[in-house]
Amino acid sequence: MKVIKKTHQMQIISDKLRMQGKTIGFVPTMGALHQAHIELIKRARKQNDIVIVSIFVNPLQFGPKEDYNKYPRPIKQDLKICRNEKVDYVFYPPVDEMYPKDGNLTFVEVTKLEDILCGKYRSGHFRGVATVVSKLFNIVKPHNAYFGEKDYQQLKIIERMVNDLNFDVKIIPVPTVRDIDGLAYSSRNLYLSDKERSVASSLYKSLVFCKELIQQKKYTLKQCIQKSKKYLDTLLSSVEHKIQYFEIYDNDLNPVPQNLKEIPSGKRIRIFVAVFIGNTRLIDNIEVTV
Ligand code: AMP
Repeated sequence: MKVIKKTHQMQIISDKLRMQGKTIGFVPTMGALHQAHIELIKRARKQNDIVIVSIFVNPLQFGPKEDYNKYPRPIKQDLKICRNEKVDYVFYPPVDEMYPKDGNLTFVEVTKLEDILCGKYRSGHFRGVATVVSKLFNIVKPHNAYFGEKDYQQLKIIERMVNDLNFDVKIIPVPTVRDIDGLAYSSRNLYLSDKERSVASSLYKSLVFCKELIQQKKYTLKQCIQKSKKYLDTLLSSVEHKIQYFEIYDNDLNPVPQNLKEIPSGKRIRIFVAVFIGNTRLIDNIEVTV
């Protein structure tokens, strides 16, 4: 396994691999690798000749009051995980390699899709994500790139960007990977105290609760959401918390009718939640077939 820190060197390697007819699978990450990242890497390993993982905590996608400085960076452990998973190259650039001193004057924005859910509360976040992923695609030149459904809005934004801008890469979604109690793996789970961690699966529980209410078809969506938020508040009552949003969209992130009877049977929709537990912001989502 080789660790590459220079963008130009990564491009030369990828060009060579492509010329040799090798397929490149790419897993972009911010490091602090966990079981879900490993799942993405395993998928890439199965479906490609070469696997490239990037580890880059992207300053452009963090707001001024967010956790850029304290984001975990256990690079030794991350490299060990990559080695175990038979990753071929880890692209691990320093910030000034990705953003030279005068920064970027060019940004990628996926309008509309970035105005809802997390985008409403994290101004500039998805612009930062779309910009860095565009850069990474131009540097790593993958055939296939793997993204988790845990960050569903991010996945949809990247899919749309690839379509709109004709990037020559296939986006492969990977289902959310959860701990045994249902909590979706996230690098930010490391911030939780033991007490907070013990109730953090409440996000998932409230999503399942809401899914069951929807499938009963007795309530409007608004009522389902109200009841689920109340349930979530109760589950989290022993810790400091704040529900940021609890919302429902269809799988393409279009709004859905309030009256469930107006939604065609068999249509797949998605419930999204974002919660602060203490200072830690967690998100999750699940699909529901109506
Ligand atoms: P991150 O390092 O948090 O930027 O995540 C890198 C990739 O891993 C993104 O495509 C995430 O959506 C994906 N990912 C993170 N957590 C999970 C999870 N619990 N299940 C599935 N994918 C995940």
